[in-house]
Amino acid sequence: MATRFVIIGGGPAGNTAATHAARLGAQVTLVERDVIGGAAHLWDCIPSKTMIATGGAIAFTRRLEGMGLEQQAPEVDVDALTERIESIKMRLQRSTTNLLTSQGVELVHGSAKMLSPNDVEITVRDSSGVATVRTITADAVLVATGSRPRIPEWCHPDGERILVTRDCYPPKVFPESVTIVGSGVTGVEFVHMFSSFGARVNLVVSRQQVLPGKDPEVAAVLEDDFLQRGVKLLKGARATSIERVVDEAGVEEVVVRCDDGRVVHSSHAVLAIGSVPNTDGLGLEAAGVQTDSNGYVIINRHCQSNAPHIYAAGDMSGKLPLSSVASMQGRKVAEHVMGLSKVAHRHLDYDKAANAIFTEPEIADVGLAEADAFAVGRKIRVTKVPFSSTPKALINNDWRGFVKIISDPATGVVLGGSIVGRHAAELISVIALAVTANLKVTDIVESLLVHPALAEALAEAAD
Ligand SMILES: Cc1cc2nc3c(=O)[nH]c(=O)nc-3n(C[C@H](O)[C@H](O)[C@H](O)COP(=O)(O)OP(=O)(O)OC[C@H]3O[C@@H](n4cnc5c(N)ncnc54)[C@H](O)[C@@H]3O)c2cc1C
Repeated sequence: MATRFVIIGGGPAGNTAATHAARLGAQVTLVERDVIGGAAHLWDCIPSKTMIATGGAIAFTRRLEGMGLEQQAPEVDVDALTERIESIKMRLQRSTTNLLTSQGVELVHGSAKMLSPNDVEITVRDSSGVATVRTITADAVLVATGSRPRIPEWCHPDGERILVTRDCYPPKVFPESVTIVGSGVTGVEFVHMFSSFGARVNLVVSRQQVLPGKDPEVAAVLEDDFLQRGVKLLKGARATSIERVVDEAGVEEVVVRCDDGRVVHSSHAVLAIGSVPNTDGLGLEAAGVQTDSNGYVIINRHCQSNAPHIYAAGDMSGKLPLSSVASMQGRKVAEHVMGLSKVAHRHLDYDKAANAIFTEPEIADVGLAEADAFAVGRKIRVTKVPFSSTPKALINNDWRGFVKIISDPATGVVLGGSIVGRHAAELISVIALAVTANLKVTDIVESLLVHPALAEALAEAAD
């Protein structure tokens, strides 16, 4: 009998696990209450990067003069932009759904919860709201229900002026000015996005640098760019309230108050202070699944919970909240469910996950960071090459940023790296491959790369 595998949640973790497990011979049911593709397609990666791509096109026109062209400020057509976002989401949703059905995955549009360690209850509502309930007894279950924006008790998003990220694709009215609360990856991407669209932007930064935890040299390049664009950085401040008010002239605005007494006025505010897992109402207690104090399911290196046949993957597993990581976890779960982990099987190493920040310049890194190596007293070799030394950056009229490669001084094995600059998210793949496959700097140096290309900075840094 085929392994009966039930997956709750059709985001990157759930849909990758479903496709892969079905290919390996499992009988798979995937339950999704919203849309296949998950929050990643509907709210997060895809719409935010689509908005950023349009903002980037506007920002590009500001550099046209330096390329021997006349500068012309483009106008934003909000309806066309909305249509573009929707059509990309639809295309991706369709292709993911087609892939799942072509592999024989049973798709159920409904809501699921665990009744016991093996029983999953699925509720499907018809168009008039009448519910049909069905229970499947599963050999293995994957909970991959994702996360949602964290909203503190002092903030009441209204979808009009006080926004969470999900209200911004695009917002009903483009802000004249906006205060972004939170300077992590999402916060800085939204600064870039709104300032590209011409808004005046304030950024509440709880520490002394944006992107806390990132290489300070990397954060400094981004801060410089923000300052040049006129972004106001409120460092060392934590927001304590966000309110809509009407000023003396009768104009509506949003007031953000910070714990150090600073007060910022803008037409809109966006909350970007992280997320919480969608684990409530899932019946995890009934299934005997343990969560940590923040509600994330505790998993081992195979993504198994304390109940070995119940797996968790994606954002709600409390590891790296990245779509790429969620998909890879889903793949690994499918292999484990189907017994492939007993043969040669590479465990997921979260320390080797490449990640990118889609600002301008882009930022990407992978593997060991300089600061982490110093913290544990590990000897490393760090080589850094600015893009300004590569012909392609000069041709592009954009030579901001650098490539940094971190390697083992004794063996030359590439341990990590960071890239700041145009196409950093693409270029980091070379270092990511080197880190995953334990390649040496000489392997990069001896690769015959294209000329002129930004990748030449990689070879130079490796040399
Ligand atoms: C603004 C923003 C931008 C981002 N950009 C990027 C990016 O560029 N690159 C990147 O790698 N990551 C990005 N991320 C992170 C990425 O979106 C998440 O890591 C990813 O969506 C996690 O995938 P998942 O499968 O865990 O969950 P999700 O994509 O959240 O999918 C979970 C699904 O489970 C469903 N579900 C929940 N409960 C139930 C239930 N009881 N029954 C049935 N279905 C249920 C939900 O409807 C949802 O569709 C971004 C995040 C944000 C907030």
